[in-house]
Amino acid sequence: MHGKNRIGFSLSNQGATGLSSFNPATAEIRSDQFTGATQEETESAMQKAESAFDTYRNTTPDQRAQFLEAIADEILNLGDELVQTAMQESALPEGRIVGERGRTMGQLKLFASLLREGSWVEATIDTAQPNREPLPKPDIRKMLRPLGPVVVFTASNFPLAFSTAGGDTASALAAGCPVVVKAHNSHLHTNELVSDAISRAAEKTGMPDGVYSSLAADGFGLGTTLVKHPKTKAVAFTGSLGGGMALYKMAIERDEPIPVFAEMGSINPVIFLPKKLNAEKEALAKTYAGSITLGVGQFCTNPGLLIGLEGSDLDQFSTTLASEISGIQPSAMLNEGIAKNFNKNKESSLTQNGVKLISSNSVEIPRNGASPAVARVSAKDFLANPNLQEEVFGPYSIVVSCKDQAELDQVIAQLHGQLTITFMGSDDDFKSFETQIHSAEKKTGRLIYNGVPTGVEVCGSMQHGGPFPAATDSRFTSVGSDAIKRFARPVAYQSAPQTMLPDELKDNNPNNVWREVDGQRTNQGL
Ligand code: NAP
Repeated sequence: MHGKNRIGFSLSNQGATGLSSFNPATAEIRSDQFTGATQEETESAMQKAESAFDTYRNTTPDQRAQFLEAIADEILNLGDELVQTAMQESALPEGRIVGERGRTMGQLKLFASLLREGSWVEATIDTAQPNREPLPKPDIRKMLRPLGPVVVFTASNFPLAFSTAGGDTASALAAGCPVVVKAHNSHLHTNELVSDAISRAAEKTGMPDGVYSSLAADGFGLGTTLVKHPKTKAVAFTGSLGGGMALYKMAIERDEPIPVFAEMGSINPVIFLPKKLNAEKEALAKTYAGSITLGVGQFCTNPGLLIGLEGSDLDQFSTTLASEISGIQPSAMLNEGIAKNFNKNKESSLTQNGVKLISSNSVEIPRNGASPAVARVSAKDFLANPNLQEEVFGPYSIVVSCKDQAELDQVIAQLHGQLTITFMGSDDDFKSFETQIHSAEKKTGRLIYNGVPTGVEVCGSMQHGGPFPAATDSRFTSVGSDAIKRFARPVAYQSAPQTMLPDELKDNNPNNVWREVDGQRTNQGL
């Protein structure tokens, strides 16, 4: 019964005790309420996920690919209702939501083609050497196999692409793991629509009951129960540093610790090198005003720190940036909590020692709105104050002026882990600042040259993760095809009969998967 995949997430018009769907821009509350998941429903979702795992882990890659493609089709079939609902719940414009829907479907299809191609499982075969001296060598074959039920905490800032059927869900389902979604309370109706789409796709493609469930509730109780549940084998999360670390600590304190792949805070420093800044200061300031305020600054890759060498070029860049930012109208943020956090964290940053607001704040701020701002601080004050490395989620950035190259070295050396670090420079600059660039590599998952950090391509080469606190495990990415690796573990099969091996490891290699056989890469059979 796939209609029951939305366990504990039913609509009810019977009173105000449930969860409400809220429009952050207008404060309009939809009259229909959601009841939160009960303990029994949560338990049932986990039980079903565990039972489904036994069947789902043994589906063929093609069956799972068909499931993912069917989810993409069902999402598109939701039509304008999905677009309008996501817009109302997030205050994001139509173009953004339509784009995000395309990205969500694209991610599902990317994983479908990855499954059909097959080499992501890293199949490796070392054939037996019965005559090896002094001891014979057994036949050993290894590949990646799914971990088990995955709990996905959906993100507030991408109601579709990092949400119910977003990259975490798509990659976990692709790996062969059932998914239990902990819906974000900002997007209850959007989650409802997409959850139904996933359920229909599961039914149409013959997936086991329990392969997907969605739960919602008020407060941290549900998330805590799911992370601590013995049947949960991994957690994916995008959100605040506090939230991610709370879940991470719960997971490692379990009797059976499990991985939490949390993507958390990053301020995405941008370093403006002198020759580039001298030649293009006006254009750079305009480009960066756009990047800082894109999507009301609500991207994990938002550039929160702009670093340069003291002098008239940096002064002019700052003046133009401040004037551009001052001209950008405040807009509503994703939800009330995020708007409150933005205003509180921005004010806190602006009261730190040596920090000076250089843009002018707009007086007219809409409901749950954010007035974009840019500030300036000396590297000396920045280096003395770790608070200035805390993420201010929203359209806010600080220009840090370094008195010389040595001070720039210190600033880079002191940076926390980041999703991205960007260098804006000419070829000459890159030669002169090679040491600083190499030093920055140690701090980031993605190193960008002459671009903006906002905008994350979904592809095989993408790395969206980084050293702590950007993520809890810098070896993995939450965007792109390698995201699937988070939800699989290597299993070696020693001296296994052919009939007991997964297809990817069988002698005849029925799907012509690329694999390593006795040290040679091949897609042929043995
Ligand atoms: P959040 O507060 O971290 O919450 C994300 C999800 O985790 C929600 O479902 C939340 O449940 C749950 N959760 C948080 N702490 C928990 C705990 N201690 N125990 C159990 N569950 C917990 O993130 P948010 O709601 O998306 O936004 C809040 C702030 O996070 C923003 O203002 C911003 O600073 C930051 N943020 C950062 C990024 C980024 O990409 N870097 C993205 C989004 C948000 P509830 O719904 O019950 O609270």
